[in-house]
Amino acid sequence: MNLVPTRIELARPLPPLTYLAPEGLPPGVRVRVRLRNGAAVGLVLGRDGAPPKVQLRPIESVVDPFPLLPQKLRELLAFAADYYAVGLAQLLPLCLPPVLVPNWEVETKHGLRLSDLRDQGRWDDLAALGEAWHRGEEGLRGLLHRRDRRGAGLTEICRTELPNPAKVTATQAKALLALEEAGGRMLEADLRDLTGTSAAVLATLEAKGLIQRTRRLDLLSQRREEGIDHRVALNAEQLAASAAVADRGFGVHLLYGVTGSGKTEVYLEVAERVLAAGRRVLWLVPEIGLTPRLLARLEARFPGQVAVGHAGLSATEKQADVVRLLQNGAPIFVGVRNAVLAPLRDIGLIIVDEEQEGSYKSEEHPRIHARDLAIKRAQLEDCPIILGSATPSLESWHAASAARYKLLKLTQRPLGIQLPEVQVADLRDAHREQRKRVVFSKALLAGMAEVLARGEQAMLLLNRRGFENFWMCRACGKTLDCPHCAVSLTYHKGSYRLRCHMCGFEAVPPEVCPHCAAAHLRGVGEGTEQIEDQVAALFPKARILRLDRDTTTRKGSLEAGLLAAEQGHVDILVGTQMLAKGHNFPKLTLVGILNADQGLRMPDFRAGERTFQLLTQVAGRAGRAEHAGRVVLQTYSPDHPAIAFALRQDFEGFAAQELTYRETLAYPPFTALALYRSEGDSPEAAQQALAAQKARLAAVPGLHLLGPLEAPVPKVRDRYRMHLLVKARQRGGISSALHAAPLAPGGAVVVDRDPLHFG
Ligand code: ADP
Ligand code: ZN
Repeated sequence: MNLVPTRIELARPLPPLTYLAPEGLPPGVRVRVRLRNGAAVGLVLGRDGAPPKVQLRPIESVVDPFPLLPQKLRELLAFAADYYAVGLAQLLPLCLPPVLVPNWEVETKHGLRLSDLRDQGRWDDLAALGEAWHRGEEGLRGLLHRRDRRGAGLTEICRTELPNPAKVTATQAKALLALEEAGGRMLEADLRDLTGTSAAVLATLEAKGLIQRTRRLDLLSQRREEGIDHRVALNAEQLAASAAVADRGFGVHLLYGVTGSGKTEVYLEVAERVLAAGRRVLWLVPEIGLTPRLLARLEARFPGQVAVGHAGLSATEKQADVVRLLQNGAPIFVGVRNAVLAPLRDIGLIIVDEEQEGSYKSEEHPRIHARDLAIKRAQLEDCPIILGSATPSLESWHAASAARYKLLKLTQRPLGIQLPEVQVADLRDAHREQRKRVVFSKALLAGMAEVLARGEQAMLLLNRRGFENFWMCRACGKTLDCPHCAVSLTYHKGSYRLRCHMCGFEAVPPEVCPHCAAAHLRGVGEGTEQIEDQVAALFPKARILRLDRDTTTRKGSLEAGLLAAEQGHVDILVGTQMLAKGHNFPKLTLVGILNADQGLRMPDFRAGERTFQLLTQVAGRAGRAEHAGRVVLQTYSPDHPAIAFALRQDFEGFAAQELTYRETLAYPPFTALALYRSEGDSPEAAQQALAAQKARLAAVPGLHLLGPLEAPVPKVRDRYRMHLLVKARQRGGISSALHAAPLAPGGAVVVDRDPLHFG
């Protein structure tokens, strides 16, 4: 086969490199190449016409037999690479696992084998084969029969630990090896598909005690029974909303309605039409673990047609999932952020539920925003997209107000449930009265007592983990800080440790102050751990469950806790804002927000918006079922707009005021932003890197450059951090900036386009 110079982009921070690759290799095919420090997967960009300056090395192997990604998705990737100024290949791992099914083989109906075609360089034939394969007409060995064995999909195979391995045959060894590579456990269906192992072989291995079969605790199957498809008759507003979404053609719809107003029923209705037309639905949710009820409803309405993108699957499981998707998988694909790049074909509808959620924005390179890319994807697919929310992002709300998006409003709650009564507890008054800092206001204490007496449920929210917020010395006034980060350490009583929430540093609490040696250390401010203790002391008989990141590190523990709470085995739930989202606790009638001001002090122009969203979301949790709900909102600043409007549950009023403020201060949605971040071993190094970038940006017209300034947390893990904020009137201005002064890959400076967090 003729080898020619070919440009290859690598999923590494490097510019494209040129290698020798088979002539005719189509762009979009992944290849494996050798770098100085190991192997890497890259994407073929095309032939390199320039005369080679150095001795070129051949690629190691061709990973894909044909371009795996649908054309529209490749267009989306090209857009995203340009928009976020990242390499195309850096986006690839978000769509496909690094190596998809090693040594895979396809045999055509006419007995042609993929490997033969590849060895002969018959790329056109392979492309045709690829099309057939994507349509599900040609099988990948083993994987084709997947659907016939759905039951096996829920059985998990685990490796057992045997001191003296029994003798195994080659076939058995192959299965064991695959299991080993998958980390010791995988779905039976995947194991069989990937290795071609028969059920009999697995049975033998089990008889030898080398593997164990278990029913997997599967969210879908476990919840399936609950999600009976109680099809409802849509009310007039829902019908109007559903009808407003055209079956074809691009259009952005903002579906705005309080929790329980029936948005999901509208999604389901439109999705049903799209499926009937033979097209697919891409359904984005902020967090998979928090949506068991949605999955149950989907599975009940569209049995066997729902696939879920899991973040926590092993590489092998992911491969099997992706192969299924690539090959005409389930028509509804539900997933979180990166699912916006899922290799789904023939998309007829995109849904972004809770579109305002920050989790749609990646806080790691590449820093994509899934909602924004979803809109672009809908445009490329020429299909409608629905953004749904009770508290739309101001970006989306503004676009709807300007009629760029179609606004669909749901104003009622079909089940007749009233929105909860929200009561403010002014902590300044409480403090004045009781002459000390108050953790639980009288209103909240009374409410909790009532709820317990009636056998209902209460939820207390505080966005701070640990026992005490920080330790301070009363003699010298200094705090105990992390040696590696510019933050104070948080005391965790359960583990008797002071812990850094930035880097994880831990220390046994000292007896005396390390600064002045006085024995006057004391904890300041309470975290969820202490709230749990205090509630237990106040209500000794109550069953209390704390859910925060410290209690839910084990896989499945959050789900288990939530399930216990849903089923009424908990009287008082204590937790961070992870409790605020998406659950339905039928007995929950009281929500206590211990400190509503917490988020307002963040140095971030979105602090008010986030606080409003959180308070509204929390309020939506109380009283979803037959019980009327009540929210006690404790605050030191009841007059702050975010709190005052949340008390009246007036999103539109809040949005109007907040947008005026954003316009005055020239913040999004009235300007576009990019945040350059630098890191260095010293503050000076970080500063110089950004100053150099600023100088390069100075030539770009129409930019407003702020900084370099210390980041809000100026040091993390012994690295000093600085920020440079770039403002432009239009998005185009930011694009010009990114292109006029591209960053060196792997350098000290990174850029975050449309930044959401400034920490
Ligand atoms: P949202 O997504 O806005 O929170 P849901 O679609 O989940 O709202 O609806 C809340 C509850 O009301 C669900 O139990 C749903 O089945 C029910 N519901 C929605 N629309 C109707 C309707 N038109 N008639 C009866 N019940 C409805
Ligand atoms: Zn630290």
